[in-house]
Amino acid sequence: MKCPFCGSIHDQVLDSRPVDHTSAVRRRRECSSCKKRYTTFERPEEVIIMIVKSDGRREPFDRRKIWMGINRACKKRSISVETINKIVNEVENDIIGEYVMEIPSNIVGDKVLEKLWDVDLVAYVRFASVYRKFGDIDAFMQELKKMKKEHIKRSGR
Ligand SMILES: [Zn+2]
Repeated sequence: MKCPFCGSIHDQVLDSRPVDHTSAVRRRRECSSCKKRYTTFERPEEVIIMIVKSDGRREPFDRRKIWMGINRACKKRSISVETINKIVNEVENDIIGEYVMEIPSNIVGDKVLEKLWDVDLVAYVRFASVYRKFGDIDAFMQELKKMKKEHIKRSGR
């Protein structure tokens, strides 16, 4: 790291700590030449993942968009911003962890739904109805039936 005060490239790391819920690290450094201290914020080189939409269009994965979508689904439910952040981080980590360059949007949606299931069923249904764009009431009822079945299965474990 180059000292912002004198430009020396020799420094000593005094303290390293991870930034909550991210892969970033904050480091407190001391310049070996001028002895001034400064902080660096480091994170892995950004991986760009393309989301492939149902009509074949592609757009870069944007965690803000997913955040907004979940936030909308969670409106007036008692779900904290922290929980939403956690879901977005987990989904993002899952996707990055799979080392793919492209991922179909429905898989991203399914990952979000999987997490919402454990958080709040109303938010789950809201997100599902927007995400899967239920064209008609039948498709929606089918989803509800599936949910009910899964719910029984899960609560029976
Ligand atoms: Zn210096």
